[in-house]
Amino acid sequence: MSDVDSLKILNGHVIDPANGVDRVGPIYVENGRIVSHEPNKAEWIDANGLVVAPGLIDIHVHLREPGQSHKETIASGTRAAAAGGFTSVVCMPNTFPTVDNPSTISWIQERARQKAVVNVFCAGAITKGLMGQALAPIGSMAAAGVVAITDDGFCVQNHGLMRRAIEYAKMFGLPILDHCQDESLVSDGVINEGEWSVRLGMQGWPSAGEELIVERDILLAELCQHPVHCQHISSAGSVRRIREARRRGVPISGEVCPHHIFFTDAEVAGFDTCFKTNPPIRSEEDITAILEGISDGTLNVLCSDHAPHASFEKEVEFDQAPFGVTGLETEFPAFCDLLVHRRKIIPLKRLIALYTLYPARLLRLDRGTLSPGASADITLIDPNLEWTFHKKESLSMSSNTPFDNVTFCGRAVRTLVRGHTVWILEGSKNE
Ligand SMILES: [Zn+2]
Ligand SMILES: [Zn+2]
Repeated sequence: MSDVDSLKILNGHVIDPANGVDRVGPIYVENGRIVSHEPNKAEWIDANGLVVAPGLIDIHVHLREPGQSHKETIASGTRAAAAGGFTSVVCMPNTFPTVDNPSTISWIQERARQKAVVNVFCAGAITKGLMGQALAPIGSMAAAGVVAITDDGFCVQNHGLMRRAIEYAKMFGLPILDHCQDESLVSDGVINEGEWSVRLGMQGWPSAGEELIVERDILLAELCQHPVHCQHISSAGSVRRIREARRRGVPISGEVCPHHIFFTDAEVAGFDTCFKTNPPIRSEEDITAILEGISDGTLNVLCSDHAPHASFEKEVEFDQAPFGVTGLETEFPAFCDLLVHRRKIIPLKRLIALYTLYPARLLRLDRGTLSPGASADITLIDPNLEWTFHKKESLSMSSNTPFDNVTFCGRAVRTLVRGHTVWILEGSKNE
């Protein structure tokens, strides 16, 4: 880019679900914002054959800073996000120190100002130190700019405390995101409880351990009349419960990560710790139910739960390894490949809505749209590009991915934040 601060993106297929736009036409940018008039003296990009979408948003990412910069940093994590087509990420509070106070929030915001190539929004903790004992100061975290409240990685077991958290969050207009896990049922579970946990002699993690809390969250969302969003849904029973509650008008929602629908628990037979996730990868029937949930609108947010771990931590016995996989660079291609092309569950237009309109609406972010006046956060997508992901080429500092050497159809090829290109696919035609 030159120093001209105006830009024209020409000939692209513009898909902007927030405005019901689905047509070939130009997009204009001036001073970092979308404008409706053609600017003078503008740089231009030929997007012929590409889809021009609002910048993708991932509301569930672990950037590991502060405290675990050997796994990922705000700099490396946001570069991986840009390479995945993301212009905004929401980082989870399970850092060291925990994001349960205004000063850690300002530290992350300042670090992001210096090092991040995409927008970083912070989620604050529900409880101090994610200990599930005492509420974190939700009001002062709201004032410091958090966009949601979650104890992700843990789950508040005390229902009365959770109710109070939801009531406080409601006062500040913040949605609650919940990692649904009943500790007494899950205990030391490492893989899905079922045929494979029995065959392999590994401690099972039953679906009921998720569903019990999903049901609890439905009851509390209804009682408090405030949005609760269930993170990384993995089981058929969770989908059914969320569907029924949404039909009754309960403000409950759910999200899906690619690993939960790309693989089954049979993969664990190889003892590869890149298939060890929380909640665990489950059965074919669970995948079928999740796909139905995406198709009928029960589950309306997609995300990675990008959880980088150093290889020395993952390259240990299965029981000992930490839970989690990376995903920022492969999530959009994986969903595009599976949902749009292979299984034809949803059209591309809806896939883009699941990554822009709905996450922005849930977290009340002023993103996810190409409306005039909006920040010029834009993702150019080649929905038919066949390519193979190699973890050695990843921009993340960690490589605990189950998608190494997997071939996908569809990929972001260029990512712009405030009108500036922050990533472009090497060798793509408008490099
Ligand atoms: Zn989680
Ligand atoms: Zn997570």
